[in-house]
Amino acid sequence: MTTVEHTQDKLTVDEFYGKCMALASNLWWSWTPEVEHLFRDLDPVGWRQTDHNPIALLQEFTPQRLYDRANEMVLFTRINQGYRRLKEYMNLRQTWASTHVGVLGSKPVAYFSAEFGIHESLPIYSGGLGVLSGDHIKSASNLGVPLVAMGLFYSQGYFRQQLDINGYQCEEYVDTKVEKLPIQEATSPEGDPITITLETRNGSLLAKVWKMQVGRVRLYLLDCNVEGNLPEDRQLTSRLYGGDERTRIRQEYVLGVGGVKALRALGINPGVYHINEGHSAFGPLEVIRQRMADDGVTFDDALRDVASQTVFTTHTPVPAGHDRFDHDVVEEHLGPLRDELGLSYEQFMSLGRVDPQDPEEQFCMTIAGLKLSRTANAVSQLHGVVSRRMWAHLWPWRADEEIPIGHVSNGVHSQSWLADQMKTFYDRHFPIDWMDRVGEGEVWQGIHDVDPGELWELHNTLKSLMISFIRRRLTKQSRRRGESDEVIDHARSVLDPSVLTIGFARRFATYKRANLIFEDLDRLSHIINDPQRPIQLIFAGKAHPKDEPGKHYIQTIACLRNEAAFRDRVVFVEDYDINVCRHLIQGVDVWLNNPRRPLEASGTSGQKVCLNGGLNLSILDGWWAEAYDGSNGFAIGHGSSHVSDEITDARDAEALLEVLENEVAPIFYNRDIDGLPRDWIKRMMNCISSCAWRFSSDRMVMDYAKHCYLPAAGGLSCKI
Ligand SMILES: *Cc1c(COP(=O)(O)O)cnc(C)c1O
Repeated sequence: MTTVEHTQDKLTVDEFYGKCMALASNLWWSWTPEVEHLFRDLDPVGWRQTDHNPIALLQEFTPQRLYDRANEMVLFTRINQGYRRLKEYMNLRQTWASTHVGVLGSKPVAYFSAEFGIHESLPIYSGGLGVLSGDHIKSASNLGVPLVAMGLFYSQGYFRQQLDINGYQCEEYVDTKVEKLPIQEATSPEGDPITITLETRNGSLLAKVWKMQVGRVRLYLLDCNVEGNLPEDRQLTSRLYGGDERTRIRQEYVLGVGGVKALRALGINPGVYHINEGHSAFGPLEVIRQRMADDGVTFDDALRDVASQTVFTTHTPVPAGHDRFDHDVVEEHLGPLRDELGLSYEQFMSLGRVDPQDPEEQFCMTIAGLKLSRTANAVSQLHGVVSRRMWAHLWPWRADEEIPIGHVSNGVHSQSWLADQMKTFYDRHFPIDWMDRVGEGEVWQGIHDVDPGELWELHNTLKSLMISFIRRRLTKQSRRRGESDEVIDHARSVLDPSVLTIGFARRFATYKRANLIFEDLDRLSHIINDPQRPIQLIFAGKAHPKDEPGKHYIQTIACLRNEAAFRDRVVFVEDYDINVCRHLIQGVDVWLNNPRRPLEASGTSGQKVCLNGGLNLSILDGWWAEAYDGSNGFAIGHGSSHVSDEITDARDAEALLEVLENEVAPIFYNRDIDGLPRDWIKRMMNCISSCAWRFSSDRMVMDYAKHCYLPAAGGLSCKI
């Protein structure tokens, strides 16, 4: 500890460069502000231009130039400190998991997901599911849960969004440069690169394996862009959620079956398989095949064993969210595996069917997930109820409440979503080890003792930062479209920091009803232009390339800037991603969420808002249905919906404007003699103390570890 200064003097250029690369190569930096700031301080402009990618940033310099620059900026001590902290973190033996779920010990949990949202510089995610997986593995790392993650390497990821002059969404796919990512080829225990072979009825598919270090968790990514594959197969894993049904099943075949094969090639023998969403539900079938081949057991015996080791999480009640495949593509791809399992065609199809006898029924990945696992869960309390009802016909002899689907409510990784200033603020007011205990309620109770004025001031600082980010973005957007000087000037000064500011950003899936607040434009205009209590709205989000109604919503909102009544009041920020999300959730006064109940399984963006002192204004759906207590935010409606969507939408739209006009705005603008909105600040505090811990991914992973992984690993039984 005391030798830091001396070490610094002795650093050679190579040692220095090695330490920088080591820090950039473990995604741990992305939730460790001291290290992130280091990269930023090395080259603030380059940092922004590279999408906050430290590997790309470091590559802009020769080691000597980087060394000189660090010298100039007096960064050596910080680099040494960061490096030492990383070592300590990686070597830590005493963790939450070693104390509480030590039984998981030697055999890791294998966590399968089609996307991982870890950081904006790694475009292998599209939305909430990916960010949830990213937050899951970050918390598993912090808690010391032995876990390896398996996903796909998408060389183009999801599309970048730009709106044209008419507000219509255009999609652009950008090639990711592997050399600029913190990934390496994974190798077998003997040190050889790994290529997985997957048989189909139509030749074989090859995939290689990349590895990436996310704190203590290793993330493996399968990539079909290898020599030996047909040209079209080399593109198979290039895009997330692109292509047709056949692309889709091929990707899922690679992820599930290929993932299990990859684990074996890597010499990893998992104790638990966590199938996060149906995409990877073919995986357990390969585990069964291995068990049969290794131990000479029957399919039924192997299935029983493997199912008891498998945890399945379902993520949506929206029908389109459940992949279903026709029998011919299933047979084309899974046929060879089916032969090895010794199953007839009907027997195999029945694993993905409600009615095994119905030849018309497609193969549903969620049903496969449910049939191949003994522990299944939904992602919020309400989603648990909905899922049990939705899948009840799989267990026709059971009552709804006996359907074996529980719930583990989603949460977010506090350290990734907290504003730096907020973190510093909590450091001052919370117990010294609060960061290691974010999933515990008592840690957060100190918020009630802080000075309301201080909290309010901090919130307004964050709000200003958000507004300057948005102005920068909008100015850039307008320039790119070649708009007039007048429009560009408007963008430069758009939004007023003193005005009640509402954010809405998420995928533009139609059930999320991004347009709900605009159902009655006259009334909305009246409300948001109230001279005493004005309101401004920020929108962002991508529509799936094939979702025309979703794109139409975007266009409608983007075009409001052509109308005088909305010009200063509504903005649309392009290309929603983790970076845009982070800025918005840290700075808004209110986060709006108005899905058609009960279709939002959980939702997580609102949880990110809570951490930073924003308030939720939401339909009582998903996580908010269990989080809202009357004093920690705002509810739209009373948590009911009509059988007719049209009637539900009309009622909810009305309820939204009602609560906005009569509750949200009055409380926000009701100031005391010090200019403080006391009731508002009280709600901020209530929200932080009641939600920050409960909807943290630390709490979520602890729940999975205790109630799902432990029983699945054959350890102590669950104690819910
Ligand atoms: C958190 C997050 C989401 C999830 O938002 P929901 O409100 O759950 O839909 C989607 N996209 C990004 C980039 C996120 O960071």
